[in-house]
Amino acid sequence: MQRITILGATGSIGVSTLDVVARHPDRYAVYALTAHRNVQQLAKQCEQFLPKVAVVGTTEAADALHKILQQKNLNIPVAYGEAALCAVASATECDMVMAAIVGAAGLAPAMAAAHAGKKILLANKEALVMSGQLFMDAVTENGATLLPIDSEHNAVFQCLPQDYRRFPSSAGVQKILLTASGGPFLHRPVSSLDMVTPEEAVAHPNWVMGRKISVDSATMMNKGLEVIEAHWLFGAAANQIEVVIHPQSVIHSMVSYVDGSVLAQLGNPDMRTPIAHAMAYPERITSGVLSLDLTQIGQLNFERPDLLRFPCLQLAFDALQAGGTAPAILNAANEVAVEAFLDRKIGFRVIDQLIARVMDALPPCPVSSMDVLFEADSHSREMAREFIRL
Ligand code: NAD
Ligand code: MG
Repeated sequence: MQRITILGATGSIGVSTLDVVARHPDRYAVYALTAHRNVQQLAKQCEQFLPKVAVVGTTEAADALHKILQQKNLNIPVAYGEAALCAVASATECDMVMAAIVGAAGLAPAMAAAHAGKKILLANKEALVMSGQLFMDAVTENGATLLPIDSEHNAVFQCLPQDYRRFPSSAGVQKILLTASGGPFLHRPVSSLDMVTPEEAVAHPNWVMGRKISVDSATMMNKGLEVIEAHWLFGAAANQIEVVIHPQSVIHSMVSYVDGSVLAQLGNPDMRTPIAHAMAYPERITSGVLSLDLTQIGQLNFERPDLLRFPCLQLAFDALQAGGTAPAILNAANEVAVEAFLDRKIGFRVIDQLIARVMDALPPCPVSSMDVLFEADSHSREMAREFIRL
């Protein structure tokens, strides 16, 4: 029996993870569930999965959850705040941690899981984008296991030989081909993108996801963050990672080898596939996802991304090239810009302009510690907020 902590249990990935857990009560038990503010949903999840601990964001949310759980006669301890998230991510009673908090807020608990040598299922790409080498070192030095949940990286992981990280030069990997749907604005006239609303931006054609990642998909910053994520996960240089637009989201990514072979992983666009793959790895379990009917899909299309339409993708490549704190600066400015766009404070096209201005204004420095990262993150946020106020 594997005991799992789900960070961000009430989110899109958290809910899909619990769906897989519920299908395999003989294999998985829930150790801890966490959420930020959605106390009602977390209470329902507690009732169904009976975790040993529940964690929320604030003392008010903790009081509210505690009351609901008491009314249901559930004696589940409730904690709150970052220290509690780190505690449930590193507790000896837990074997595996699903890191599914959105944004930089997930970095400290994901890092705590790495330091505790856990099996980490990483959905929270922002944590790895920010911390890069520090995170990978923490995984290696503490004997943690890192398995990608992001569908593209999970696909690449499945298409690479098992010993890839130990023998990268003899594996003959030439390129990682990250597929991208292109989001809801793939063919919309560029001149009309100024006018798009948050509702249009979060309406992804193939995937149902949280609001932040949905906007990131519409700007293609999501793919940019994934390029940086792929660099760290697979030790690939920027020029070994190529982005290919594939509007059907059936091929989740590919690996191209020196002998001309290209291996791809295909499936219906449902995150329960990569979640079940990582949870059971190296075994396979059912996920509830229907098998793919290629005759129903009919055709698969591919095109090159247009960097004028999607400047965020270029900004991410630039940040990867610049190194040091640049990806953390990029990520923080993007988080502020996306939130401002969702709050209707800035237009869609201002997102990339704002990030570019912050990156120009803040030169990157080497990442010697987590403190350096958190400082870069907060400088970038302050500057982005200042630009929005101007
Ligand atoms: P979501 O917005 O649906 O859920 C986010 C979760 O994090 C919620 O449980 C929320 O309570 C919690 N949370 C939010 N802010 C927090 C904070 N400050 N402190 C603690 N907890 C907080 O997001 P999602 O779509 O499930 O995405 C989660 C992560 O997984 C993101 O990093 C995203 O990029 C990644 N991801 C998601 C998908 C997908 O299909 N949804 C696919 C690939 C990767
Ligand atoms: Mg993805």
